[in-house]
Amino acid sequence: MFDVITIGECLIDFTPAGVGETGAALFAREPGGAPANVTVALSRLENKTAFIGKVGADFFGEYLKFTLGSMGVNTDHLLATTKAHTTLAFVHIDPTGERSFEFYRRLGADSLLKKEELRQDFIQQTKIFHFGSFSLSTEPSRTATFAAVKMAKEAGALISYDVNFRKPVWESKEEALRQMHKGLQYADIVKVSYEEMYLLSGVEDVQEGARIISEHGASLVLVTLGRGGAFYRTENAMGQVPTFDVHTIDTNGAGDAFVATILHALVGKTAADLKELTTMELSHIVERANAAGALATTKSGAMPAMPPWQKIQDCCLTTPHLIVEA
Ligand code: ADP
Repeated sequence: MFDVITIGECLIDFTPAGVGETGAALFAREPGGAPANVTVALSRLENKTAFIGKVGADFFGEYLKFTLGSMGVNTDHLLATTKAHTTLAFVHIDPTGERSFEFYRRLGADSLLKKEELRQDFIQQTKIFHFGSFSLSTEPSRTATFAAVKMAKEAGALISYDVNFRKPVWESKEEALRQMHKGLQYADIVKVSYEEMYLLSGVEDVQEGARIISEHGASLVLVTLGRGGAFYRTENAMGQVPTFDVHTIDTNGAGDAFVATILHALVGKTAADLKELTTMELSHIVERANAAGALATTKSGAMPAMPPWQKIQDCCLTTPHLIVEA
């Protein structure tokens, strides 16, 4: 039995790495892809994890499979195809540490995962199943992702969904909204950024936005607010929890570390259990997730920046809270 299985994109993030002798910009080859980052972070927190997805039968694909495996992730269902190259993402970081992406994915291997390649018996063996919207953006990975989510849900797994909207991979905003909304109907736990909350709910107010999102069925809705920390909402509790004052150099991977730490705390719980969590319990869980997110911003690259439990605990005990004016 796995604690968490994730499905979706595993790709190469080329992150800025200074300039060479000739003045040319350098990029570092970092393993990435949001669900893959979440899996690695959960593995670092000593959970039993597996990743389902597809890479190219090329050097990058081999490197990704090796990297996930060496971090303790089961990669039996990380398939390799000769029909496309491993998907690449070039990361651009602005002077404030905010990042944007350029995807080399026209026929990227991650999008070629097929429903027929899923193994139901494997997917049924997990306490939590996690997915995002990147793999919903094109076929055949869209059908495969929804089919896998249904299989896991029917087998009793808690379903976690990080909306993780990446505009460049969608044909249109309308299609993105349609598919992202469809994802909401399966999820017990939904994590959105403030921008995604606005996109999906149409309102600017966090309490109201989270309420509208929860109407699709989630027991727990989380809205990440960057330096503003995070907001949580269940049927019986809600609140905003501040993050920690750290030296940020690269925000890539913060949301994934946040999600992983939330899931780490919820392994073994049912959707009904989530509704019973008290304000104190939820604040405690979200505080640790904020610490993980904050710590992830202090290192470059996503996977290498995923913090172990001891660091998360230390951060909560020793780092001052970051109080941001609304
Ligand atoms: P996403 O990738 O979902 O947009 P965020 O950038 O909001 O995620 O980051 C996730 C969490 O990490 C935030 O809710 C916050 O707790 C923490 N975090 C992100 N950026 C910073 C920062 N610059 N300083 C401190 N904590 C941060």
